[in-house]
Amino acid sequence: MNKNILKKLSYGMYIITSKNADLLVGCVANSVMQINSDTVAISLNNDNYTTKVILEEKKFVINILPTNTEIELIKTFGFKKSNEVNKFLNVSYKLVDDVPIINNTCGYIICTFNNLVKTTTHTIILGKIINMQVSSELEPMTYKYYQENLKGTTNKNAPTYQEEKKTSNKNVFVCKICGYRYETDLDELPDDFKCPMCGVGKEYFEKE
Ligand code: FE
Repeated sequence: MNKNILKKLSYGMYIITSKNADLLVGCVANSVMQINSDTVAISLNNDNYTTKVILEEKKFVINILPTNTEIELIKTFGFKKSNEVNKFLNVSYKLVDDVPIINNTCGYIICTFNNLVKTTTHTIILGKIINMQVSSELEPMTYKYYQENLKGTTNKNAPTYQEEKKTSNKNVFVCKICGYRYETDLDELPDDFKCPMCGVGKEYFEKE
């Protein structure tokens, strides 16, 4: 078996949002799929607070990120926890159908909960589309584009890359599933670390 074939699968970049009473929640996802004209599927880590809220509230939004998305937005929704920080604090958003829509994206799809499949790590949620809008003609960001162009401070193609390697003694951990690179001062990832992109645990990360 050659696991590299899995890296040939295509993914996008999305922020999945929901709302529980006054608490706005959201997380980054790379797996969204249209099933038919009014059904979509998303895959979220079982441990994400956003997953819990969606299963309770039975409603969620797929915000489709464009290629010009700020890395800070992805970091905020990918790394922080919705029950610990207000991820929307510095984010431009509006409420539509009582769920948060992030502004300046390609557009959004609002769904109600339809069904789910649980694996040991992820919950695949089927949603029935109740509202959707094209917000701009911006180019949607693929996961490949994100990896190649928006790697925060770790873009290998960026002229600053070598310099950063020299001036900082940061460790880089790479997700064996999706290729996500995480820079940290720590020698080891915390036990509860989850890949912000594909949601797998620290056991799937290799030190570079
Ligand atoms: Fe990953």
